[in-house]
Amino acid sequence: MEKKCKSIVWFRRDLRIEDNPALAAVARDGTVLPVFIWCPKEEGPYHPGRVSRWWLKHSLIHLQQSLRSLGAELVVIKAETTLSALLDCISAVGATKVVYNHLYDPISLVRDHNIKQKLVELGIEVQSFNGELLFEPWEVYDDNEQAFTTFNAYWEKCMNVQKDPVSHLPPWRLALAEGAGMNTSIEALNLENESEKSSNALLGRGWSPGWSSADKTFTEFVEHHLLNYSKDRLNVGRNSTSLLSPYLHFGELSIRKVFQSVRMKQLVWKNEQNTVGEESATFFLRAIGLREYSRYICFNFPFTHERSLLSSLQYFPWDSNQAHFKAWRQGRTGYPLVDAGMRELWATGWIHNRIRIIVSSFFVKFLLLPWQWGMKYFWDTLLDADIESDILGWQYISGSLPDGHELERMDSPQVQGFKFDPEGEYVRQWLPELARMPAEWIHHPWDAPLSVLKSAGVDLGSNYPKPLIDMDLARDRLTEAIATMHGKEAAGKAAVTDGTDEVVFDNSEPHEKVAVSKAVTRERKPCPASSSHDQRVPSMRNANSMIQNRKRPNPGEDGRALKDNLNSCNIGKQVSKMADEDLCSTAESSSSKKAMTNSRISFSVPRNCSSMSTSAPYPVPDSSDHNDSWHEEVGTGEMSSKNGTSNLQISGKQIIHEEES
Ligand SMILES: Cc1cc2nc3c(=O)[nH]c(=O)nc-3n(C[C@H](O)[C@H](O)[C@H](O)COP(=O)(O)OP(=O)(O)OC[C@H]3O[C@@H](n4cnc5c(N)ncnc54)[C@H](O)[C@@H]3O)c2cc1C
Repeated sequence: MEKKCKSIVWFRRDLRIEDNPALAAVARDGTVLPVFIWCPKEEGPYHPGRVSRWWLKHSLIHLQQSLRSLGAELVVIKAETTLSALLDCISAVGATKVVYNHLYDPISLVRDHNIKQKLVELGIEVQSFNGELLFEPWEVYDDNEQAFTTFNAYWEKCMNVQKDPVSHLPPWRLALAEGAGMNTSIEALNLENESEKSSNALLGRGWSPGWSSADKTFTEFVEHHLLNYSKDRLNVGRNSTSLLSPYLHFGELSIRKVFQSVRMKQLVWKNEQNTVGEESATFFLRAIGLREYSRYICFNFPFTHERSLLSSLQYFPWDSNQAHFKAWRQGRTGYPLVDAGMRELWATGWIHNRIRIIVSSFFVKFLLLPWQWGMKYFWDTLLDADIESDILGWQYISGSLPDGHELERMDSPQVQGFKFDPEGEYVRQWLPELARMPAEWIHHPWDAPLSVLKSAGVDLGSNYPKPLIDMDLARDRLTEAIATMHGKEAAGKAAVTDGTDEVVFDNSEPHEKVAVSKAVTRERKPCPASSSHDQRVPSMRNANSMIQNRKRPNPGEDGRALKDNLNSCNIGKQVSKMADEDLCSTAESSSSKKAMTNSRISFSVPRNCSSMSTSAPYPVPDSSDHNDSWHEEVGTGEMSSKNGTSNLQISGKQIIHEEES
């Protein structure tokens, strides 16, 4: 019936042909114009970093070739606004329909909603599909229709949903909608500028972007590595995990395909009573579940890219020390495991999850630097930089999630070094200046006898830094900061309940106290063309009704207060624990039980998103000023010559060949 329909298929982070629901839908309908619009202004502070843009460039080239072989041409446009580019395409080919796959990050949510409204007002049909998740974030709620705030409860619910993911067949031929004359070349997008090319060349040795590489990497992983994933994934220095994160971020691999293949393996291993294999598949599915959960959190609590989910952190006295921030970025903190991780990150654009946890925890707990700064730096340097997963990771380690690490938990990089890199091979690989240190001292060179340092050629304070901060001092500072935070929080509450005029200002956000929001998933303003597949947006309902926080128990609270707190919850699983080795990812251990209380506030579309291009990136002291400078700082001689890392022409997969710890 709609054979003559002309449709625009708008590619974003779904750079694949297989199981791409938007592409599959229009391929059946009539003629198609595939479009990719590059509009950096709209990304605001989340403009992709160097390595991420390198990946995008190569993935687009690959997609363009694939579409060409199907009979269509990917139109690539550099635009001031996405809406204007889409309107140009619509009028150029006389399209009547625009289709795309959903995104859930706070910036895309607002942009997509506004674009959809505008197009519908202009009489253009708009259809959107689930191309990136097993479960839409508005499909999974607890018994009280509240959004989950702990991963285990969320994933348990997901795994009990009686729904088989349905994949879409790839089109075998596309009929191109003729007439688009605004195409530009991928090169002209300037995703990679001249000065970046030499650094980027290294990336190409270890990674090959594009959906067919994604398929190959996944098949190889399932056939050869999945079986031992439950054990291997804990090793930092070897090819121990799937390395699928950049592919999944750019939508080069269908998550439904991943789920189905791993599930199939799991069943086979179960039938064979292969408990190792079955457990590995369960762990891997949970890793995939964390990716789902990251979208879930961002959709249901869309302020989390700039504020912690647990509101008590708003009173934390962050130390905005630029010198410490710089030393961390450059891998010059004097803690070898942290420094090795930061240098690997810079050189390869990827680090193991455990290393992410170690360097990010050090950032927050040792240096007391605002977690949003670290999050933004990761965003700029990771190949798999993904707003939602980055947010989840940083919130997890900074005491911002009910089931994450406690803020007071402080892991020693020295102890972790001996645990995860017992021979020091990982450190030696990334810190050549410590290459001759014996394993016994490599994770704490400051304790080594002078004779050992001398024969290893290490001169602390000269060719390798002394620790930026002493462990005991750091612990004291953290304890003091937490006490300050609790004091301010209590004073803030007292001021509210006493009705006194005293105002305790939040050091990061003076104007608003934030409680965990309750998810309400009603369309803000339904578009006429909406269908059950359509993208939903966070509701504006009850945006002003604030109530108590969902939070961990305060160490100062007495048992009764805590009990009252818990009794006031109407959710059954207030105490939740993320399994240690289990939580696939964000934790290597979560030591104590955490309680939380309930909240009833609904969220609104985040303040800063609708005008992302102009708004300040963070409510905390802004690190964006340092954005450009850190590239220079870390990228130039300091990294490559002083530390001797220039000969480490290794990236991604190639570097990972360590022994099991
Ligand atoms: C502070 C911090 C920041 C992080 N930032 C990012 C980021 O920007 N982008 C990103 O993709 N991941 C991020 N992660 C999560 C995790 O470290 C990576 O997804 C993982 O290391 C990627 O390697 P892999 O593909 O080999 O993982 P595997 O262990 O093979 O897992 C398979 C897939 O599951 C998903 N996954 C696994 N663990 C997590 C997790 N903790 N959170 C969300 N998804 C997960 C990823 O898509 C991953 O590709 C971050 C973690 C922390 C602690």
